[in-house]
Formats: sequence, structure tokens, C-alpha cells
Amino acid sequence: MSNKFESLPLEKALLENLSSLDYKEMTPIQAKSLPLILSGKDVIAQGKTGSGKTATFALGILHNLEVKRFRIQSLVLCPTRELADQVAKEIRRIARSIHNIKVLTLCGGSPLGPQIGSLEHGAHIIVGTPGRIEDHLNRGRLNLENVNTLILDEADRMLEMGFQSALDLIFSMCPKKRQTLLFSATFPDEIKPIAKAIMIDPSTVKVESTHDTNTIDQHFYQVLEHSERLTAIRLILLKNQPESSVIFCTTKIETQQVADELAMFGFSCIAIHGDLDQKDRDQALVRFANKSVSILVATDVAARGLDIENLDAVINYQISRDPEVHVHRIGRTGRAGSKGTAYSIIVEKEIHRIIKLEDMMKQSIKMEKLPDRNILEKKPNKPEMTTLQIDGGKKQKVRAGDILGALTAKKGTDDIQGNQIGKIQLFDNRSFVAVHRSIANDALNKIQNGKLKGRSFKARCLWG
Ligand code: ADP
Ligand code: MG
Repeated sequence: MSNKFESLPLEKALLENLSSLDYKEMTPIQAKSLPLILSGKDVIAQGKTGSGKTATFALGILHNLEVKRFRIQSLVLCPTRELADQVAKEIRRIARSIHNIKVLTLCGGSPLGPQIGSLEHGAHIIVGTPGRIEDHLNRGRLNLENVNTLILDEADRMLEMGFQSALDLIFSMCPKKRQTLLFSATFPDEIKPIAKAIMIDPSTVKVESTHDTNTIDQHFYQVLEHSERLTAIRLILLKNQPESSVIFCTTKIETQQVADELAMFGFSCIAIHGDLDQKDRDQALVRFANKSVSILVATDVAARGLDIENLDAVINYQISRDPEVHVHRIGRTGRAGSKGTAYSIIVEKEIHRIIKLEDMMKQSIKMEKLPDRNILEKKPNKPEMTTLQIDGGKKQKVRAGDILGALTAKKGTDDIQGNQIGKIQLFDNRSFVAVHRSIANDALNKIQNGKLKGRSFKARCLWG
């Protein structure tokens, strides 16, 4: 089995683009599944987060796509809007060497009207969440008659979120003759009947369903009562001072509570869960990804599939009841060869979860002692960066270069250096730029006082 993209029957322009994206060779899941996918087979692919599943199905979609036929030919279903956005972005990147491919996202949290407008303009590829796609189908605004490729991304999570009936409707509206590809990080029993019902003689491809847990330093702490988990987490954070970490919680309410309480103790943290509106979720992810907030507190669903990299630590406020989920969570630390660290807090009645985990990891787990409580007197570290939110974005034709230019424009003594400016992210009507804390006020002044596209934009600093 070759791991060169060139071994695949792909168009030259696509291959050249892959190499321009620095995709030098196929990841294991790509090498195993792409030959099957490109030969037209239905495929069930199981692989951990970060294994490159998106590019896998993006290439499948593009292989089946007739650009000249301006009809919806592929439908990608994702559990959350963030994932759908991320997937659409990756498809556009992979497709950028082919002209005029239209990828449209249809997700909840955005008004229906503009989506209907976009649908009327047509698209080749739809990426969306089942609920919103169902909505459009019910209103007769979405025609799936020409779909030749149907993708279920994070299928396990979609079922868990109760999308079953929406999915049933969607499947019934797609042509029977099509290619169906199903991607999932875990493969619970609930998926099997669906796979059977909607796929034809699928091949299953599995790439080490579990992360190599040996590259992760795992620490386990037992506390006497549920109420002591927060103190345990504070001790761990103060002792180890991870620059970027994710804390996993079980419910939305718990997620918000943990984030609020940690913030009260001075930690730089933010929550992300399904009860937040889309603006707040986007903002939270931006601030975490640009390192102006150090701790993201999240539910499994909210964190699922998000391409959050370089985590120094993963912390389990509660250990998952499913060992596969545990391994999946902690797999987000220690990417790219560096050793990651995971901390898990348990109470006595969760010991059986530890036993299951030991069985799966084939190693024994020892409880450790928490750091000494003296450390609670310490002040948490603040991140070096902070985020400016600017009330202008793509629709106001703001570009990253404009923001960079405005910030680095010379103005007497308070020059801002390029290296004090971090990630810049543009949304429709807003943009975010990470800047060094020490220059945040100067930066804010420059944006507010007409240095950006010669206009004054409203802006504010989101201190983490
Ligand atoms: P998954 O869906 O399996 O969790 P993603 O599709 O989000 O993983 O991919 C994770 C990251 O790997 C993305 O940033 C993507 O651009 C990158 N990637 C995918 N395939 C390759 C490849 N062949 N070479 C290099 N990077 C890749
Ligand atoms: Mg994915």
C-alpha cells in the first residue's frame, strides 16, 4: 500500500494543490480508505481525531463531482455548526485548484432567509447539521435529487444528539444510487443498523481506534466528594501551569459552572457548550485558539472534532464512563510528537470506570496525591496575549492585512511590533486579533481612531 497521493487516480490539479498545502503523504486512514472510496465503494472509516478524515471525504466528493453540472451533488452531515464550518473550510482548501466550486453551509444558529437565498443561487456541495437540513427539506427549499455522494461525519455523535429522525428524512430524500461514506471516531452498536440501512456492502477501514496512550502522561486523583473536584483542578492548574488546556465536563450546566468558578479564582478560562449562542461559541473558540484564554471548559459534544491543537493538558473534571471517549479526549494533548499530559479526577463510585480503562489500556492505574494546598495562595498565570474584537469583518471588506497595517502604522512613541500581534480571524461582521497584553490599549486606540481602512471601527478588548 503506497502512502503517496500520486498513487491515487486523482486529477493533476488536485494532486498539485495537495502538495501546495504541504500534504506530503497520506495519513494512515487516507492510505487505507482512499483507494476504496475512489473506486466508488461505500466505506465506513473509523479513526481518531486529527487523523485526516475530512480530506479523505473531500477527495471522494471532488472525485465524483461534475463542476459543470451546477446541482447539489454532495451532502455532508456534521453534528455541530463549528464542525460544519471547519469541514467546509477544508473542502474549499482541497478544492481550490478547481474553479467555481460552490460549497454552502446550512446550520442552525443562523437565520433561514439568507440560507434560502444562497440555495436559490445554487451549490455543488452542502455541508450542514441534520436539524437545519431537515428544515430546508420540509420547506421544499432543498433538492437532493442529484446527490451522488453522502457523507456522515462524526456519525456516532449525531446519533447521540438525537438526530435520528432528521437523518431518516434526509436519507429518504437522497437518490438510492449514490456513494455513502460514514466517518466516526468510535463505533457504538447504535450505528450498525443505520450503516446497514443506508449503505451498500460497505468496506470497513479502521485505524488504531485508540490513541497511543503511551505518549501521554496520565495522572489520576481520587477526591472524597464531588464538591472537591474544583479544588483538585485548581491545585493541578496552579502546580503545572499549562499554557493551553481543555477541561472536559459532562453537562452543559456543569461546564458553565466550572468555568464561572475558575474565573472567580482568577483563571483565564472560557466555557463552550450547546446552550451558548453561536456568537459566543465562535468568540470562545477564537480566544482559546489564539492563546488569549488558557483554559477551555467543554462538553464532549462541543469539543468533538474541533481542530484544537497543541494542548499542554487535558483535564477530566469527571472521568468518562466510556473508556473509548476517555482515550479520545486525552488524545488531544501531545500531538506532533511531543508528550502530552492528562489529569483525571475521580470519586469512589467511579472506580469501576478506572477498571474498565485499565482493561482497555492494558496497564494498571495508580492514584496520585494532589499537590499541597499551600499552592492555592498562588495567583494563576495570565496568558501573554489578549483579544481585540473589531466590529467590522468580511462584509465591510476588512482584511487581515488591513488590521495588521493599522496596528503597525507608525504613531510617535507607541510603535507596535509585528511580533506583538498574533492570530487574526475574520467573520462576516466582526474580526478578532490577538495582541500582546502590554500593547492592548495602544492597539485599541489605533483601531478606534481611524487607522483601519481610514474609518473608525468600534472595538473592544476581551481580557481573558
Ligand atoms: P479528523 O477529521 O480525522 O479529526 P481533520 O480532517 O480535521 O481530522 O485533520 C486534522 C488536520 O490534519 C487538519 O489540520 C488537516 O488539514 C491536516 N491533514 C489532513 N490530511 C493531511 C495530510 N495528508 N498531510 C498533512 N496534513 C493533513
Ligand atoms: Mg473530523
